[in-house]
Amino acid sequence: MIEPITYRITPADPGAHIYTVVCTIADPDPDGQLLSLPAWIPGSYLIRDYARHVVRLSARCAGTALPVVKMDKSAWRCEPCTGPLRIEYDVYANDLSVRGALLDMNRGFFNGVCVFMMVHGRTDRPCSVSIERPDGPRYADWQVATAMVPDSAPLWGFGGYRADDYDELIDHPVEMGNFRTGEFEVAGVPHRLAISGRRRADIERLTADLKKLCGHHVRFFGEPPPMDRYLFLVTTLAGPYGGLEHRASTSLMCRRSDLPGPNTPQEWKSYRRFLGLCSHEYFHTWHIKRIKPAVFQPYDLSREAHTRLMWVFEGITSYYDDLALQRSGLISVESYLELLGETVTRVGQMPGRFKQSLADASFDAWTRHYRPDENTPNACVSYYTKGALAALALDLRLRELTDGAKSLDDVMHALWEHHGRTGRGVPEEGFEALTSAVAGEDLGEFFDLLVRSTAELPLERLLATVGIGLRFRAPVSLDDPGGPPDPRAAAMQTSLGARSRDDSGRILLTHVYDGGAAQRAGLSAEDELLAIDGIRVTLQNLPEILNSHAPGDEVSCTFYRREELMSVRVRLQAPEKSIAWLTLDERIPAHVRERRAAWLAGTPAAART
Ligand code: ZN
Repeated sequence: MIEPITYRITPADPGAHIYTVVCTIADPDPDGQLLSLPAWIPGSYLIRDYARHVVRLSARCAGTALPVVKMDKSAWRCEPCTGPLRIEYDVYANDLSVRGALLDMNRGFFNGVCVFMMVHGRTDRPCSVSIERPDGPRYADWQVATAMVPDSAPLWGFGGYRADDYDELIDHPVEMGNFRTGEFEVAGVPHRLAISGRRRADIERLTADLKKLCGHHVRFFGEPPPMDRYLFLVTTLAGPYGGLEHRASTSLMCRRSDLPGPNTPQEWKSYRRFLGLCSHEYFHTWHIKRIKPAVFQPYDLSREAHTRLMWVFEGITSYYDDLALQRSGLISVESYLELLGETVTRVGQMPGRFKQSLADASFDAWTRHYRPDENTPNACVSYYTKGALAALALDLRLRELTDGAKSLDDVMHALWEHHGRTGRGVPEEGFEALTSAVAGEDLGEFFDLLVRSTAELPLERLLATVGIGLRFRAPVSLDDPGGPPDPRAAAMQTSLGARSRDDSGRILLTHVYDGGAAQRAGLSAEDELLAIDGIRVTLQNLPEILNSHAPGDEVSCTFYRREELMSVRVRLQAPEKSIAWLTLDERIPAHVRERRAAWLAGTPAAART
């Protein structure tokens, strides 16, 4: 019988943010066992070096202390031992994010990559995990939420869990503390929800909406779903916003106000955004957790794994996340078009799209997408947002080429059949080849345009094939997100060609756009704007000041740069007409109307020809 690797994790000192972990290996490598923590977590492509949070480590061989040597930034080697080998270590956990680990008096959360050592040469062994309750009356009513399979642990309880191998072990994040729970079923599969943080959310409504959404995704790829249980782990704290996908769960972080109360309107923007996040991470259950780039099979968690396909996984997922809200009836068509207009607007405000292709943005995810700086809009394009628009373009082009017989839905179904069900990774050229096969013709030239060039996407023309108009206007505010023009709001008259943020009442320039007024005048990111023509500026009065001028006017701009007072003359520019909105055109031929209806309805797997 193969002995499992056992792990016991104890929230030993919540005040000091310390988990203590004991890992026991019955039959370690007799030449000296190598152990390490991953340098990155699947789903978030940045080297994070989790081992730097290990603050103490010791080993015992059959009860006797055993020397251990650190080999590199992430790995340790034990002296030879015939077993059992017992490693004990402390992990500092104070990272409020879905990619890390946290422990304090209010809650505990961890990803396996932060706390469970990889036992080299034994990663295919089953793992047995014991999750312990912290000591003290304060923690008496804490519960545990995880999609890990329970052994002895009751539902929502501390105790024994198991995983088939190391890869699975690190793919089930664990939440502990006090949280509210919900439950619903999709295609016979139990789906659960755990919400931590002080928010009196309307859980009934949330579960009803999630049930509709998840049901839609399951029908899209075809029943049965590839997991036998699913968990939404939601944290509502004043932390970063975002989510991370896993094989049978997702961890999500949002603001308290993103969750619906009893009177929240359905089209309320922040709830709509939250539903879009749930939709995105749930779609990943198929697309990236099971349909994967070949370079992720298996993951090399010690170093970067480059692929030019990130846009396929994140872009297509970003396309379907909002579209699925509309297709499942959670939002209206108009609401969906508003979201699409916002995506077009965001891409249009990145001059970097003329310098970086989607393939290059994908390849450089590790050093550029995950390490944004003041130059990012000028140098980069996002494989999420432009990737979503490329997916839209591809979908509409397939519908056009095949007169509505095929679409991106069919490509997704083919991907699932060829690479999801089989577990065969998608080679770097695989997605393009599969799409051409679905189209029945070589789409190389179209992929050149979409993925390998920096040319604008032909969205206006393609949207017209489904009776959607794409229009552009000037912004009406400094952070106009896009959407239909508001007849009560006047368009901005001039622009600095820069973005700024409020820093406790100070205006700091965050991005200075290439070739814009601010850049030509010598202003730079991090400059603190003080006055224009001798009048103090705030984010509130800046629009007024800009609107009191005409393009071409020169103003004097006073600012601090690294604590030195400076002044320059800025020639104001006309604001770019970069704000997109989409319209449902009504005077269209019947076949265009039919094609639009088919696009908005989607093709579930069961209806695939
Ligand atoms: Zn994603």
